Amino acid sequence: MSSLAGDWLMMERQTFERFVRHELPDGDPVLADLEARHLAITDPGRSTLAPLLSQYRTRKSYLLQGPALHIFVVSLRCHHTCNYCQVSRQPTGHTAFDMAGNAARHAVDRLFEWPGQDLTIEFQGGEPLLNFNAVRSITEQIVARNATERRTLRFVLASTLHDLTADQLAFFKEHRFKLSTSLDGPEWLHNANRPRPERDSYRRTLEGIERGRAALGEDAVSALTTLTRRSLEAPEAIIDEYRRLGFHSISLRPLSPYGFARKTRDRNGYDMAAFLRFYATALEHLLAVNRNGYRLEETYASLLLSQLLGPFAHGYVDLRSPTGAGFGAVIYDYDGQVYPSDEARMLAAMGESRFSLGRVDQPVSQWLKAPAMYQLMDAGVAEALPTCSDCAYVPLCGADPIDHFARQGDTLGHRPTSDFCRRQMGLFDLLLERYENADRQDRKTLHDWAFRTGVNQEDALDAAA
Ligand code: SF4
Repeated sequence: MSSLAGDWLMMERQTFERFVRHELPDGDPVLADLEARHLAITDPGRSTLAPLLSQYRTRKSYLLQGPALHIFVVSLRCHHTCNYCQVSRQPTGHTAFDMAGNAARHAVDRLFEWPGQDLTIEFQGGEPLLNFNAVRSITEQIVARNATERRTLRFVLASTLHDLTADQLAFFKEHRFKLSTSLDGPEWLHNANRPRPERDSYRRTLEGIERGRAALGEDAVSALTTLTRRSLEAPEAIIDEYRRLGFHSISLRPLSPYGFARKTRDRNGYDMAAFLRFYATALEHLLAVNRNGYRLEETYASLLLSQLLGPFAHGYVDLRSPTGAGFGAVIYDYDGQVYPSDEARMLAAMGESRFSLGRVDQPVSQWLKAPAMYQLMDAGVAEALPTCSDCAYVPLCGADPIDHFARQGDTLGHRPTSDFCRRQMGLFDLLLERYENADRQDRKTLHDWAFRTGVNQEDALDAAA
């Protein structure tokens, strides 16, 4: 059972049924527990909703800030030909797919029209280093404007980190960039998943990680892995590779239904049940690694545990209600189009542009009136969606109308057959059960993941190279 603010209690079904039938006697410890967690009121005269409402406000506090994540797609060009690529990458010579100066200038103007005090600016591609001039110019324009705006800025580069130059690293250091890259596991797996003509993607990625760490500090570089069917056979090997390389966080990300990933689904794809089996094995291995004294967490588990065990809002846009698309994130594409999420941009690249907000030379107020925003508002409140409205996890879960449109052709979606829901429910069930049955040491590990310090969840989760 859960309250609207996310307090929860597990109980035997029999006890639950007695509670619903008002058969639990006064003084019953379960009833006291239910009252303490705002799941029941036994005496309206002595009770108040104030603590529940204040908790609710805290959990949804991201709504008061406007979008915090602003993604600048500076080029679609890329060296790689990954089968699972989520974007419509372009060959390295095709500079027509770079963001032009005008689009960049307008995007910077729009950035400061949003009300948020804390702004994360993430550069993405393709490979953003192939248009480093745009990264430099946009960063400098933002920093210059911020002399009067006085927002708190955070810069992130989502890149393969191949061919990083000393000049680029000095620039990233000056502006305290965080680097996020893709590392799919050991060499055989990484090179198979992320081919380059020279078959040297793994070696170049490791070089980039080392150079980034040397210039910016150990914690400034994070990595995530995209799981292909091949990856599902190697949970231990993937985790051991991250440990060997000194990472303290790993992000185990299932394939998405966009871009090239859709075209190669038969070869690379798998169902959510296979992902959840993989994830359960990976979780056990991660707990064993932590038991042996090495701190290594899975970032999505940390996010869900922070929601289960703590009262706070999170910054992760894919897991919000109302949806984070447009309300938590904005994407400025290379050609001047603006989208409420990266997934909306990918759909547009596949010919479906219904989620476009407009162009960078239009004011933000006009984007907010775009039909796309109305579609997102209609289908973006999980508490009002069929099935979610009755689900105990809804205060901790999110609505993802664009993902449901991409997978099911409908922004509302059908939860019993939704991969989004299967993943969420499967992971909540797994983590909750593991937490409840854990010995002291494992419980402490899971607790530390939820309330950790040192690694930024958003760095690892938001950015994908
Ligand atoms: S998506 Fe699934 S797990 Fe999440 S609230 Fe809705 S029904 Fe529950």
